[in-house]
Amino acid sequence: MAVANNLLRLLDEIPSGVKLVAVSKFKPAEDIMAAYAAGQRRFGESRPQELAAKAAVLPTDIEWHFIGHLQTNKIKFVLPYASLIESVDSMHLLLAISAAAVAQGRRVDCLLEVHVAAEESKGGFTPEEALSVAASAADYPGVRLRGIMAMATNTDDLERIRADFRRAREVQLATSLPELSMGMSSDWPVAVEEGATIIRIGSAIFGAR
Ligand SMILES: *Cc1c(COP(=O)(O)O)cnc(C)c1O
Repeated sequence: MAVANNLLRLLDEIPSGVKLVAVSKFKPAEDIMAAYAAGQRRFGESRPQELAAKAAVLPTDIEWHFIGHLQTNKIKFVLPYASLIESVDSMHLLLAISAAAVAQGRRVDCLLEVHVAAEESKGGFTPEEALSVAASAADYPGVRLRGIMAMATNTDDLERIRADFRRAREVQLATSLPELSMGMSSDWPVAVEEGATIIRIGSAIFGAR
């Protein structure tokens, strides 16, 4: 019941037009089904094999978003199931996803992860790199670029977080791509104020991991 209640309360607060990804990483299928029964169809996973294992047994009308770091040798676990790969964080990965999709005669929707946080440990394209990649779509025919994904600095300082989201928004606007995925349990209201079209929320729905 907690999962459904958390979800419904959240959906009440999120403006219509902002897409909610329920981040179900590390959570069992029964938790996903509790959210599914309450109407949620969009879920996010961050580990390739975990996504493949869950997607194989859960309802096929679930829209899976892949949101974790992806190594090229794991693309095969993600490609059959992901309707959106949000965390494309290097040219090497983008080209490998494109080649894998082309080999299967398809095209996969992706976001470019842009590095706007203070931590060096977080991955992603610089804003400048993202702009140039977005302008060269012919280089990756197996990918349909849909927008930008970003994570803010891990801090309680909401103004720092807001500044990070603003930079991500500027990149998205400069690319003219439609989607901007940013905001998690702790900072999603700021992300929505700064233009997020997709928010990724885990612990506020499923509890602590
Ligand atoms: C885990 C995760 C989230 C969700 O985080 P919560 O704080 O649990 O809402 C969002 N985005 C990414 C990329 C994540 O890995």
